[in-house]
Amino acid sequence: MKAEAETVIAVSKNKYNVNKIREDFPILKKKVHDKNLVYLDNAATTQKPTYVIDKVNKYYTTMNANIHRGVHALSQEATEAFEAARIQIKQFINALGKNQIIFTRGTTEAINLVASSYGRANIKEGDEIIISHMEHHSNIVPWQLLCKEKNAKLRVIPVNDNGELIYEEFEKMVNERTKFISIVYVSNSLGTINPIKELISYAHQFNIPVLVDAAQAVNHIRVDVQDLDCDFLAFSGHKIYGPTGIGALYGKVELLESMPPYMGGGDMISKVTFEETTYNELPHKFEAGTPDIAGAIGLGAAIEYVNKVGIENIKEHEHSLLEYATKQIAEVPGLKIIGTAKEKTSVLSFVLENIHPHDIGTFLDFEGVAIRTGHHCTQPLMQRFKIPATSRASFAMYNTKEEVDVLVYGLKKIIEVFG
Ligand code: PLP
Repeated sequence: MKAEAETVIAVSKNKYNVNKIREDFPILKKKVHDKNLVYLDNAATTQKPTYVIDKVNKYYTTMNANIHRGVHALSQEATEAFEAARIQIKQFINALGKNQIIFTRGTTEAINLVASSYGRANIKEGDEIIISHMEHHSNIVPWQLLCKEKNAKLRVIPVNDNGELIYEEFEKMVNERTKFISIVYVSNSLGTINPIKELISYAHQFNIPVLVDAAQAVNHIRVDVQDLDCDFLAFSGHKIYGPTGIGALYGKVELLESMPPYMGGGDMISKVTFEETTYNELPHKFEAGTPDIAGAIGLGAAIEYVNKVGIENIKEHEHSLLEYATKQIAEVPGLKIIGTAKEKTSVLSFVLENIHPHDIGTFLDFEGVAIRTGHHCTQPLMQRFKIPATSRASFAMYNTKEEVDVLVYGLKKIIEVFG
């Protein structure tokens, strides 16, 4: 096991050393079908650096205990490590307080928490909730369920042919019935970066709270919740080099305090009798039961790692990869890029004339290239573009131009084979 201090952090004086970064990710040495693995499925999940793997390992080997309730040393050590991870997240997204960070299983659970708790308490018959046409299913279905239950209306901001929100339509859509807006920051299918700050500022003129789905944002661009002034923000650990099954919800204190609990159980209570229960303070009110302690510690480590590389350096590297890939891929005959927004990051979705994305994915797999094919949990968006699916290459801090070349080579080979 590498000592923590030895972990290769490969950015020095404006020089981003991607090969050194790759050394931190053991899985990248893997061979697939006797070819070097080219992992371009980062929007689905990212690979984990040794730094994160070691921290999770260290938790289980040296401090495993349940948190918050124990007076013994091990429990206190585990509690400290768990709460330190919360502070890492707080600082990373620039929240004011650590009580605003609620550990969840991921973005999906965070959105469901808000829809169930805030939504059930505040949305009434005839109210309207605004989402967009480029939402992931996890930012559609919870609101749809709520609207069904409350007889409220779900309204959808349309998307233009480049895959950008039609902002004027959003402004027209807002009215006195609008009671909540939930919107994706970066689209997982198109890579579009939405004008979230502008949208929030507009919504706040009418006192409408906004939730930001930052699942594809925190790993690519700087996210500052105070600057955005968002009311809620959700993200998943596994998309930012952390473990699966852990993520976070950020919320403004006054909103979180006014909301009823989402789940009942241990840790979220202050006092329980059979007649009545009073609830614990934030953030514990929303963290019923034993959490994924190792996962939270792993997520804290992932954020530490990202901080060491530098989110601005990552953004720049990924942007240059996206630009290079967009140029190279244009040489593939019959290829059409889906998602050509001016503001874009890290995702390259495309279709090839007369070749089904699943055939593309399978063929590339034999070249060692892992991309995602399908609807990417955005079926309404696929319907908008009148396609069943796309092939999607998505980039992370450890990808290289040489890997893009392997992808493009594979695509050209597919054209030869399929004619
Ligand atoms: N929102 C977006 C934009 C996503 O890309 C994803 C996952 O792909 C999710 C939400 C759901 O994240 P999770 O499955 O980690 O809860």
